[in-house]
Amino acid sequence: MVRVRFAPSPTGALHIGGVRTALYNYFFARQNGGKFILRIEDTDSARFVPGAEAYIIESLKWAGIEIDEGVSVGGPHAPYRQSERREIYLKYALELVEKGWAYYAFDTPEELDAIRAENGETFSYNYTVREKLATSLNLSAEEVEERLARGDQWVIRFKMPEGETIEMDDLVRGHISVNSSTLDDKVLYKSSDKLPTYHLANIVDDRLMEITHVIRGEEWLPSLPLHYMLYRAFGWSSEQPLFAHLPLLLKPTGSGKLSKRDGDKLGFPVFPLQWQPTDGSEGARGYREDGYLPEAFVNMLALLGWNPGNDHSEIMTMEEMISLFSIDKVGKSGSRFDPEKAKWFNAQYLHTTSNEVLVKMFRPVLEEKNIKVTDEKLEKIVGIVKERATFVSDLWELSKYFFEAPQSYDEKVVAKFWTGDNPAHLVELKRRLIMVEDFTAEKLESVAKEWIHIKELPMGKIMNTLRLALVGTNAGANLFEIAQIIGREEFNRRIERAHN
Ligand code: GLU
Repeated sequence: MVRVRFAPSPTGALHIGGVRTALYNYFFARQNGGKFILRIEDTDSARFVPGAEAYIIESLKWAGIEIDEGVSVGGPHAPYRQSERREIYLKYALELVEKGWAYYAFDTPEELDAIRAENGETFSYNYTVREKLATSLNLSAEEVEERLARGDQWVIRFKMPEGETIEMDDLVRGHISVNSSTLDDKVLYKSSDKLPTYHLANIVDDRLMEITHVIRGEEWLPSLPLHYMLYRAFGWSSEQPLFAHLPLLLKPTGSGKLSKRDGDKLGFPVFPLQWQPTDGSEGARGYREDGYLPEAFVNMLALLGWNPGNDHSEIMTMEEMISLFSIDKVGKSGSRFDPEKAKWFNAQYLHTTSNEVLVKMFRPVLEEKNIKVTDEKLEKIVGIVKERATFVSDLWELSKYFFEAPQSYDEKVVAKFWTGDNPAHLVELKRRLIMVEDFTAEKLESVAKEWIHIKELPMGKIMNTLRLALVGTNAGANLFEIAQIIGREEFNRRIERAHN
Protein backbone atom coordinates (compact mmCIF):
# COMPACT_ATOMS: atom_id res chain seq x y z
CA MET A 1 0.00 0.00 0.00
CA VAL A 2 1.22 3.50 -0.82
CA ARG A 3 2.22 5.40 2.31
CA VAL A 4 3.55 8.93 1.98
CA ARG A 5 4.41 11.50 4.57
CA PHE A 6 4.60 15.24 4.85
CA ALA A 7 7.33 15.88 7.39
CA PRO A 8 7.70 19.59 8.11
CA SER A 9 9.91 21.03 10.81
CA PRO A 10 8.03 23.51 13.00
CA THR A 11 10.49 26.33 12.45
CA GLY A 12 7.94 28.98 11.50
CA ALA A 13 4.97 29.50 9.22
CA LEU A 14 4.62 27.00 6.40
CA HIS A 15 5.64 28.56 3.10
CA ILE A 16 3.41 27.90 0.07
CA GLY A 17 6.18 25.65 -1.29
CA GLY A 18 5.61 23.43 1.74
CA VAL A 19 1.88 23.37 1.11
CA ARG A 20 2.57 22.31 -2.48
CA THR A 21 4.74 19.43 -1.22
CA ALA A 22 1.93 18.35 1.08
CA LEU A 23 -0.54 18.64 -1.78
CA TYR A 24 1.43 16.41 -4.17
CA ASN A 25 1.86 13.83 -1.42
CA TYR A 26 -1.87 14.00 -0.79
CA PHE A 27 -2.76 13.62 -4.49
CA PHE A 28 -0.47 10.63 -4.72
CA ALA A 29 -1.85 8.97 -1.59
CA ARG A 30 -5.49 9.47 -2.61
CA GLN A 31 -4.92 8.39 -6.20
CA ASN A 32 -3.40 5.14 -5.02
CA GLY A 33 -5.78 4.44 -2.18
CA GLY A 34 -2.87 4.95 0.20
CA LYS A 35 -2.25 6.90 3.38
CA PHE A 36 -1.13 10.49 3.89
CA ILE A 37 0.86 10.88 7.09
CA LEU A 38 1.78 14.05 8.94
CA ARG A 39 5.03 13.73 10.88
CA ILE A 40 6.46 16.66 12.77
CA GLU A 41 10.26 16.77 12.62
CA ASP A 42 11.11 18.80 15.68
CA THR A 43 14.48 17.44 16.74
CA ASP A 44 16.26 20.73 16.13
CA SER A 45 15.32 22.40 19.38
CA ALA A 46 17.25 25.57 18.53
CA ARG A 47 14.97 26.23 15.58
CA PHE A 48 11.69 25.24 17.22
CA VAL A 49 9.03 27.96 16.99
CA PRO A 50 5.94 27.81 19.23
CA GLY A 51 2.70 27.83 17.30
CA ALA A 52 4.26 26.55 14.09
CA GLU A 53 2.83 23.04 14.41
CA ALA A 54 -0.70 24.31 14.98
CA TYR A 55 -0.22 26.63 12.01
CA ILE A 56 0.82 23.71 9.79
CA ILE A 57 -2.20 21.65 10.81
CA GLU A 58 -4.60 24.53 10.25
CA SER A 59 -3.05 25.29 6.87
CA LEU A 60 -3.53 21.72 5.67
CA LYS A 61 -7.10 21.76 6.88
CA TRP A 62 -7.86 25.03 5.11
CA ALA A 63 -6.34 23.65 1.90
CA GLY A 64 -8.60 20.58 2.13
CA ILE A 65 -5.74 18.14 2.74
CA GLU A 66 -6.95 15.41 5.06
CA ILE A 67 -4.48 13.69 7.33
CA ASP A 68 -4.94 9.92 7.59
CA GLU A 69 -2.32 9.30 10.24
CA GLY A 70 -0.10 11.56 12.24
CA VAL A 71 0.11 14.41 14.66
CA SER A 72 -3.41 15.60 15.56
CA VAL A 73 -5.11 12.37 14.44
CA GLY A 74 -2.95 9.51 15.77
CA GLY A 75 -2.44 6.14 14.11
CA PRO A 76 -0.68 2.79 14.35
CA HIS A 77 2.83 4.31 14.43
CA ALA A 78 2.18 7.00 17.05
CA PRO A 79 3.70 9.16 18.32
CA TYR A 80 4.26 11.13 15.12
CA ARG A 81 6.16 14.00 16.70
CA GLN A 82 9.88 13.19 16.68
CA SER A 83 10.56 14.87 20.01
CA GLU A 84 8.23 12.26 21.52
CA ARG A 85 10.12 9.41 19.85
CA ARG A 86 13.52 10.39 21.17
CA GLU A 87 14.21 7.02 22.90
CA ILE A 88 13.93 5.24 19.56
CA TYR A 89 16.88 6.80 17.77
CA LEU A 90 19.94 6.15 19.94
CA LYS A 91 19.62 2.42 19.40
CA TYR A 92 19.86 2.92 15.65
CA ALA A 93 22.83 5.26 15.92
CA LEU A 94 24.63 2.70 18.09
CA GLU A 95 23.76 -0.07 15.66
CA LEU A 96 25.68 1.83 12.98
CA VAL A 97 28.66 2.32 15.30
CA GLU A 98 28.59 -1.38 16.01
CA LYS A 99 28.54 -2.23 12.30
CA GLY A 100 31.41 0.16 11.58
CA TRP A 101 29.25 2.60 9.61
CA ALA A 102 29.48 5.35 12.23
CA TYR A 103 31.79 6.49 14.99
CA TYR A 104 31.97 8.65 18.10
CA ALA A 105 33.51 12.09 17.73
CA PHE A 106 34.49 13.98 20.86
CA ASP A 107 35.70 17.31 19.56
CA THR A 108 33.97 20.19 21.26
CA PRO A 109 32.43 22.97 19.18
CA GLU A 110 35.39 25.18 20.22
CA GLU A 111 37.92 22.63 19.00
CA LEU A 112 36.07 22.33 15.73
CA ASP A 113 36.02 26.09 15.33
CA ALA A 114 39.78 26.16 15.89
CA ILE A 115 40.36 23.46 13.25
CA ARG A 116 38.11 25.34 10.85
CA ALA A 117 39.95 28.59 11.48
CA GLU A 118 43.23 26.82 10.72
CA ASN A 119 42.03 25.11 7.57
CA GLY A 120 39.66 27.77 6.34
CA GLU A 121 36.83 27.09 3.94
CA THR A 122 38.35 23.86 2.70
CA PHE A 123 37.84 21.98 5.97
CA SER A 124 35.47 19.09 5.67
CA TYR A 125 34.86 16.52 8.40
CA ASN A 126 35.47 13.42 6.30
CA TYR A 127 37.81 10.53 5.51
CA THR A 128 40.80 12.88 5.32
CA VAL A 129 40.61 13.97 8.96
CA ARG A 130 38.48 11.56 10.99
CA GLU A 131 41.40 9.34 11.88
CA LYS A 132 43.43 12.27 13.10
CA LEU A 133 40.78 13.85 15.32
CA ALA A 134 39.33 12.87 18.67
CA THR A 135 37.14 10.08 17.31
CA SER A 136 36.63 6.45 18.18
CA LEU A 137 38.51 5.67 14.95
CA ASN A 138 41.62 7.30 16.35
CA LEU A 139 41.44 6.90 20.13
CA SER A 140 41.98 3.57 21.86
CA ALA A 141 38.95 1.57 22.97
CA GLU A 142 39.84 2.29 26.61
CA GLU A 143 40.05 5.97 26.02
CA VAL A 144 36.68 5.99 24.28
CA GLU A 145 35.17 4.09 27.22
CA GLU A 146 36.74 6.49 29.65
CA ARG A 147 35.45 9.56 27.85
CA LEU A 148 31.96 8.11 27.62
CA ALA A 149 32.03 7.09 31.28
CA ARG A 150 33.14 10.47 32.51
CA GLY A 151 30.36 12.17 30.58
CA ASP A 152 32.33 14.00 27.89
CA GLN A 153 30.08 15.34 25.17
CA TRP A 154 30.07 13.34 21.97
CA VAL A 155 28.31 13.02 18.67
CA ILE A 156 27.91 10.02 16.42
CA ARG A 157 28.96 10.68 12.84
CA PHE A 158 28.29 8.67 9.72
CA LYS A 159 31.44 7.22 8.21
CA MET A 160 31.04 8.19 4.59
CA PRO A 161 33.24 5.91 2.48
CA GLU A 162 35.99 7.30 0.31
CA GLY A 163 35.95 7.21 -3.47
CA GLU A 164 32.77 5.30 -4.02
CA THR A 165 30.17 6.13 -6.65
CA ILE A 166 26.74 6.32 -5.10
CA GLU A 167 24.07 5.47 -7.65
CA MET A 168 20.61 6.86 -7.05
CA ASP A 169 17.26 7.12 -8.79
CA ASP A 170 14.78 9.90 -8.49
CA LEU A 171 11.29 9.81 -9.99
CA VAL A 172 11.62 13.41 -11.18
CA ARG A 173 15.35 13.78 -11.84
CA GLY A 174 16.11 10.31 -13.14
CA HIS A 175 19.41 8.59 -12.45
CA ILE A 176 21.96 10.47 -10.36
CA SER A 177 25.44 9.46 -9.28
CA VAL A 178 27.74 11.13 -6.79
CA ASN A 179 31.29 10.43 -5.71
CA SER A 180 31.21 9.80 -1.97
CA SER A 181 34.54 11.59 -1.48
CA THR A 182 32.73 14.87 -2.04
CA LEU A 183 30.52 14.26 0.99
CA ASP A 184 31.26 14.81 4.65
CA ASP A 185 30.61 12.73 7.75
CA LYS A 186 27.27 14.07 8.90
CA VAL A 187 26.32 14.08 12.57
CA LEU A 188 23.57 11.54 13.28
CA TYR A 189 23.12 11.91 17.02
CA LYS A 190 24.20 14.34 19.74
CA SER A 191 24.77 13.57 23.42
CA SER A 192 24.23 17.25 24.31
CA ASP A 193 20.45 17.07 23.86
CA LYS A 194 20.10 13.30 23.44
CA LEU A 195 18.50 13.88 20.08
CA PRO A 196 19.12 12.60 16.57
CA THR A 197 19.72 14.99 13.71
CA TYR A 198 17.27 15.27 10.83
CA HIS A 199 19.04 12.62 8.71
CA LEU A 200 18.92 9.80 11.22
CA ALA A 201 15.44 10.51 12.53
CA ASN A 202 14.06 10.92 9.03
CA ILE A 203 15.42 7.60 7.72
CA VAL A 204 14.51 5.64 10.85
CA ASP A 205 10.99 7.02 10.92
CA ASP A 206 10.40 6.50 7.21
CA ARG A 207 11.40 2.90 7.80
CA LEU A 208 9.33 2.38 10.96
CA MET A 209 6.31 4.13 9.47
CA GLU A 210 6.60 1.99 6.32
CA ILE A 211 6.85 4.94 3.96
CA THR A 212 6.82 3.84 0.32
CA HIS A 213 7.44 7.16 -1.46
CA VAL A 214 9.32 10.23 -0.29
CA ILE A 215 8.00 13.28 -2.17
CA ARG A 216 9.77 16.43 -1.00
CA GLY A 217 11.36 19.69 -2.06
CA GLU A 218 14.47 19.85 -4.19
CA GLU A 219 16.43 21.41 -1.33
CA TRP A 220 16.72 17.87 0.06
CA LEU A 221 18.34 16.44 -3.05
CA PRO A 222 21.88 17.05 -1.70
CA SER A 223 20.95 14.83 1.28
CA LEU A 224 19.89 11.95 -0.95
CA PRO A 225 23.33 10.27 -1.21
CA LEU A 226 23.60 10.17 2.58
CA HIS A 227 20.06 8.80 2.82
CA TYR A 228 20.89 6.07 0.31
CA MET A 229 24.00 5.23 2.31
CA LEU A 230 22.02 5.10 5.55
CA TYR A 231 19.58 2.63 4.03
CA ARG A 232 22.53 0.54 2.91
CA ALA A 233 24.23 0.74 6.29
CA PHE A 234 21.10 -0.46 8.07
CA GLY A 235 20.65 -3.21 5.49
CA TRP A 236 17.30 -1.79 4.31
CA SER A 237 18.23 -0.90 0.72
CA SER A 238 16.01 -3.45 -0.95
CA GLU A 239 12.95 -2.01 0.82
CA GLN A 240 13.82 1.64 0.80
CA PRO A 241 11.22 4.15 -0.40
CA LEU A 242 11.24 5.66 -3.88
CA PHE A 243 12.19 9.33 -4.03
CA ALA A 244 10.74 12.28 -5.91
CA HIS A 245 12.31 15.72 -5.48
CA LEU A 246 10.02 18.56 -6.53
CA PRO A 247 11.30 21.59 -8.44
CA LEU A 248 11.71 24.91 -6.67
CA LEU A 249 9.15 27.67 -6.65
CA LEU A 250 10.77 30.74 -8.19
CA LYS A 251 10.21 34.43 -7.57
CA PRO A 252 7.76 36.22 -9.91
CA THR A 253 10.77 37.63 -11.74
CA GLY A 254 11.92 34.08 -12.40
CA SER A 255 15.28 34.69 -10.79
CA GLY A 256 15.96 32.75 -7.64
CA LYS A 257 13.98 30.79 -5.13
CA LEU A 258 10.75 32.28 -3.77
CA SER A 259 11.66 33.17 -0.22
CA LYS A 260 9.65 33.78 2.89
CA ARG A 261 10.51 37.47 2.71
CA ASP A 262 9.43 37.98 -0.90
CA GLY A 263 5.79 38.40 0.07
CA ASP A 264 6.26 41.60 1.98
CA LYS A 265 8.76 42.96 -0.49
CA LEU A 266 6.59 42.39 -3.54
CA GLY A 267 3.18 42.77 -1.98
CA PHE A 268 1.64 39.28 -2.13
CA PRO A 269 1.30 36.47 0.39
CA VAL A 270 3.75 33.56 0.42
CA PHE A 271 1.95 31.83 3.29
CA PRO A 272 -1.41 30.07 3.26
CA LEU A 273 -2.64 31.73 6.46
CA GLN A 274 -1.79 34.88 8.27
CA TRP A 275 1.09 34.26 10.64
CA GLN A 276 1.26 35.92 14.01
CA PRO A 277 4.22 34.68 16.01
CA THR A 278 3.55 34.46 19.74
CA ASP A 279 6.93 35.97 20.58
CA GLY A 280 5.92 39.33 19.16
CA SER A 281 8.24 39.09 16.14
CA GLU A 282 7.01 40.23 12.78
CA GLY A 283 4.15 38.28 11.24
CA ALA A 284 3.09 37.85 7.65
CA ARG A 285 -0.07 37.96 5.59
CA GLY A 286 -1.79 34.87 4.27
CA TYR A 287 -3.99 33.82 1.37
CA ARG A 288 -6.93 33.03 3.61
CA GLU A 289 -7.03 36.46 5.24
CA ASP A 290 -6.34 38.15 1.91
CA GLY A 291 -9.66 36.74 0.75
CA TYR A 292 -8.67 33.77 -1.41
CA LEU A 293 -10.99 30.81 -1.68
CA PRO A 294 -9.13 27.67 -0.60
CA GLU A 295 -10.12 25.83 -3.79
CA ALA A 296 -8.63 28.61 -5.92
CA PHE A 297 -5.45 28.69 -3.84
CA VAL A 298 -5.00 24.93 -4.08
CA ASN A 299 -5.69 24.85 -7.81
CA MET A 300 -3.17 27.65 -8.44
CA LEU A 301 -0.54 26.01 -6.27
CA ALA A 302 -0.98 22.54 -7.75
CA LEU A 303 -0.10 23.86 -11.20
CA LEU A 304 3.23 25.28 -10.05
CA GLY A 305 5.41 22.35 -10.99
CA TRP A 306 2.88 19.99 -12.50
CA ASN A 307 0.29 20.14 -15.23
CA PRO A 308 -1.97 17.48 -16.65
CA GLY A 309 -1.24 18.43 -20.28
CA ASN A 310 -2.47 21.09 -22.67
CA ASP A 311 -5.77 19.50 -23.53
CA HIS A 312 -7.01 19.90 -19.97
CA SER A 313 -8.56 23.00 -18.42
CA GLU A 314 -6.51 24.78 -15.78
CA ILE A 315 -9.52 24.87 -13.49
CA MET A 316 -9.73 21.59 -11.61
CA THR A 317 -11.42 20.34 -8.49
CA MET A 318 -9.49 18.44 -5.85
CA GLU A 319 -11.00 15.19 -7.17
CA GLU A 320 -9.91 15.93 -10.72
CA MET A 321 -6.39 16.77 -9.61
CA ILE A 322 -6.21 13.58 -7.58
CA SER A 323 -7.15 11.51 -10.56
CA LEU A 324 -4.96 13.38 -13.07
CA PHE A 325 -1.82 13.86 -10.96
CA SER A 326 1.28 12.03 -12.03
CA ILE A 327 4.89 12.35 -10.87
CA ASP A 328 5.95 11.79 -14.51
CA LYS A 329 4.45 15.14 -15.35
CA VAL A 330 6.21 17.04 -12.59
CA GLY A 331 8.73 19.38 -14.25
CA LYS A 332 12.45 19.35 -13.57
CA SER A 333 12.94 23.09 -13.72
CA GLY A 334 11.65 25.61 -11.22
CA SER A 335 8.17 27.12 -11.55
CA ARG A 336 7.73 30.84 -11.51
CA PHE A 337 5.15 31.98 -9.02
CA ASP A 338 2.79 34.58 -10.49
CA PRO A 339 0.67 36.57 -8.02
CA GLU A 340 -1.54 37.87 -10.84
CA LYS A 341 -2.35 34.32 -11.83
CA ALA A 342 -3.34 33.63 -8.23
CA LYS A 343 -5.87 36.46 -8.49
CA TRP A 344 -7.11 35.14 -11.79
CA PHE A 345 -7.77 31.74 -10.21
CA ASN A 346 -9.66 33.38 -7.40
CA ALA A 347 -11.84 35.30 -9.82
CA GLN A 348 -12.64 32.12 -11.77
CA TYR A 349 -13.73 30.35 -8.60
CA LEU A 350 -15.66 33.33 -7.33
CA HIS A 351 -17.65 33.60 -10.57
CA THR A 352 -18.73 29.98 -10.36
CA THR A 353 -19.57 30.08 -6.65
CA SER A 354 -23.34 29.98 -6.19
CA ASN A 355 -25.10 33.20 -5.24
CA GLU A 356 -26.36 31.49 -2.13
CA VAL A 357 -22.85 30.73 -0.89
CA LEU A 358 -21.58 34.18 -1.84
CA VAL A 359 -24.39 35.77 0.15
CA LYS A 360 -23.14 33.95 3.23
CA MET A 361 -19.64 35.30 2.68
CA PHE A 362 -20.82 38.81 1.86
CA ARG A 363 -23.30 39.08 4.73
CA PRO A 364 -20.76 40.02 7.44
CA VAL A 365 -19.61 43.01 5.37
CA LEU A 366 -23.20 44.26 5.17
CA GLU A 367 -23.87 43.58 8.83
CA GLU A 368 -20.92 45.72 9.75
CA LYS A 369 -22.50 48.54 7.78
CA ASN A 370 -25.84 47.86 9.37
CA ILE A 371 -27.49 47.13 6.06
CA LYS A 372 -30.59 44.98 6.16
CA VAL A 373 -31.57 43.10 3.04
CA THR A 374 -33.35 39.83 2.40
CA ASP A 375 -31.43 36.78 1.18
CA GLU A 376 -33.53 36.70 -1.93
CA LYS A 377 -32.68 40.24 -2.89
CA LEU A 378 -29.04 39.86 -1.94
CA GLU A 379 -28.72 36.74 -4.06
CA LYS A 380 -29.99 38.68 -7.02
CA ILE A 381 -27.56 41.55 -6.40
CA VAL A 382 -24.60 39.25 -5.93
CA GLY A 383 -25.57 37.38 -9.10
CA ILE A 384 -25.54 40.65 -11.05
CA VAL A 385 -22.15 41.92 -9.88
CA LYS A 386 -20.03 38.85 -9.16
CA GLU A 387 -18.66 38.56 -12.70
CA ARG A 388 -16.65 41.69 -12.07
CA ALA A 389 -15.29 40.71 -8.66
CA THR A 390 -11.96 39.05 -7.90
CA PHE A 391 -12.52 38.81 -4.13
CA VAL A 392 -15.59 38.75 -1.90
CA SER A 393 -14.32 42.06 -0.56
CA ASP A 394 -14.83 43.61 -4.02
CA LEU A 395 -18.57 42.94 -3.82
CA TRP A 396 -19.28 46.00 -1.69
CA GLU A 397 -17.71 48.50 -4.09
CA LEU A 398 -19.43 46.81 -6.99
CA SER A 399 -22.87 46.73 -5.40
CA LYS A 400 -23.11 49.53 -2.86
CA TYR A 401 -25.48 51.59 -5.00
CA PHE A 402 -28.09 48.87 -4.53
CA PHE A 403 -28.10 49.62 -0.81
CA GLU A 404 -27.57 53.33 -0.54
CA ALA A 405 -28.16 56.42 -2.66
CA PRO A 406 -25.01 58.00 -4.09
CA GLN A 407 -23.19 60.10 -1.50
CA SER A 408 -21.67 62.21 -4.23
CA TYR A 409 -21.82 62.51 -7.99
CA ASP A 410 -18.87 62.01 -10.29
CA GLU A 411 -17.98 65.52 -11.44
CA LYS A 412 -16.85 64.55 -14.90
CA VAL A 413 -20.04 62.66 -15.55
CA VAL A 414 -22.10 65.55 -14.17
CA ALA A 415 -20.35 67.97 -16.52
CA LYS A 416 -21.09 65.72 -19.43
CA PHE A 417 -24.70 64.68 -18.83
CA TRP A 418 -26.34 66.92 -16.25
CA THR A 419 -26.63 69.62 -18.88
CA GLY A 420 -29.20 71.36 -21.03
CA ASP A 421 -32.65 69.80 -20.93
CA ASN A 422 -31.42 66.43 -19.68
CA PRO A 423 -32.37 66.92 -16.00
CA ALA A 424 -35.83 68.12 -16.99
CA HIS A 425 -36.32 65.16 -19.33
CA LEU A 426 -35.23 62.86 -16.56
CA VAL A 427 -37.96 64.15 -14.26
CA GLU A 428 -40.52 63.62 -16.97
CA LEU A 429 -39.26 60.10 -17.61
CA LYS A 430 -39.32 59.35 -13.92
CA ARG A 431 -42.93 60.48 -13.62
CA ARG A 432 -43.77 58.08 -16.37
CA LEU A 433 -41.83 55.19 -14.88
CA ILE A 434 -43.08 55.35 -11.31
CA MET A 435 -46.57 54.92 -12.69
CA VAL A 436 -45.67 51.59 -14.26
CA GLU A 437 -47.72 49.06 -12.42
CA ASP A 438 -45.43 46.11 -12.85
CA PHE A 439 -42.12 47.60 -11.58
CA THR A 440 -39.82 45.05 -13.24
CA ALA A 441 -36.65 45.58 -15.25
CA GLU A 442 -38.22 44.36 -18.50
CA LYS A 443 -41.32 46.46 -18.20
CA LEU A 444 -39.41 49.59 -17.14
CA GLU A 445 -36.97 49.22 -19.96
CA SER A 446 -39.62 48.92 -22.62
CA VAL A 447 -41.63 51.86 -21.27
CA ALA A 448 -38.52 54.05 -20.99
CA LYS A 449 -37.26 53.24 -24.45
CA GLU A 450 -40.61 53.78 -26.03
CA TRP A 451 -41.01 57.15 -24.32
CA ILE A 452 -37.53 58.33 -25.34
CA HIS A 453 -38.22 57.19 -28.85
CA ILE A 454 -41.54 58.97 -29.15
CA LYS A 455 -40.05 62.14 -27.70
CA GLU A 456 -37.21 61.82 -30.16
CA LEU A 457 -34.62 62.31 -27.41
CA PRO A 458 -31.03 61.07 -27.50
CA MET A 459 -31.18 57.59 -25.95
CA GLY A 460 -27.58 57.45 -24.68
CA LYS A 461 -27.68 60.82 -23.02
CA ILE A 462 -30.93 60.23 -21.21
CA MET A 463 -29.82 56.81 -20.03
CA ASN A 464 -26.56 58.21 -18.71
CA THR A 465 -28.38 61.00 -16.90
CA LEU A 466 -30.60 58.41 -15.26
CA ARG A 467 -27.57 56.32 -14.35
CA LEU A 468 -25.88 59.32 -12.79
CA ALA A 469 -28.91 59.91 -10.59
CA LEU A 470 -29.17 56.27 -9.51
CA VAL A 471 -25.48 55.30 -9.17
CA GLY A 472 -23.58 58.59 -8.94
CA THR A 473 -21.35 57.77 -11.89
CA ASN A 474 -21.41 56.15 -15.32
CA ALA A 475 -20.67 52.58 -14.26
CA GLY A 476 -22.67 49.74 -12.77
CA ALA A 477 -25.17 47.07 -13.63
CA ASN A 478 -28.12 47.25 -16.02
CA LEU A 479 -30.10 50.38 -15.10
CA PHE A 480 -33.49 48.77 -15.06
CA GLU A 481 -32.33 45.90 -12.93
CA ILE A 482 -31.04 48.48 -10.50
CA ALA A 483 -34.40 50.22 -10.62
CA GLN A 484 -36.30 47.01 -9.96
CA ILE A 485 -34.07 46.04 -7.05
CA ILE A 486 -34.07 49.41 -5.28
CA GLY A 487 -37.84 49.66 -5.84
CA ARG A 488 -40.24 52.34 -6.87
CA GLU A 489 -39.88 54.63 -3.85
CA GLU A 490 -36.13 54.67 -3.72
CA PHE A 491 -36.03 55.13 -7.48
CA ASN A 492 -38.20 58.21 -7.11
CA ARG A 493 -36.18 59.54 -4.18
CA ARG A 494 -32.82 59.22 -5.95
CA ILE A 495 -33.96 61.17 -8.95
CA GLU A 496 -35.47 63.85 -6.74
CA ARG A 497 -32.24 64.00 -4.78
CA ALA A 498 -30.12 64.35 -7.88
CA HIS A 499 -32.04 67.52 -8.65
CA ASN A 500 -31.25 69.16 -5.33
N1 GLU B 1 11.86 18.03 8.04
C1 GLU B 1 12.19 18.23 6.66
C2 GLU B 1 11.57 19.53 6.23
O1 GLU B 1 11.39 20.37 7.04
C3 GLU B 1 11.65 17.05 5.87
C4 GLU B 1 12.38 16.74 4.63
C5 GLU B 1 11.90 15.42 4.09
O2 GLU B 1 10.74 15.36 3.66
O3 GLU B 1 12.64 14.46 4.12
O4 GLU B 1 11.28 19.79 5.09
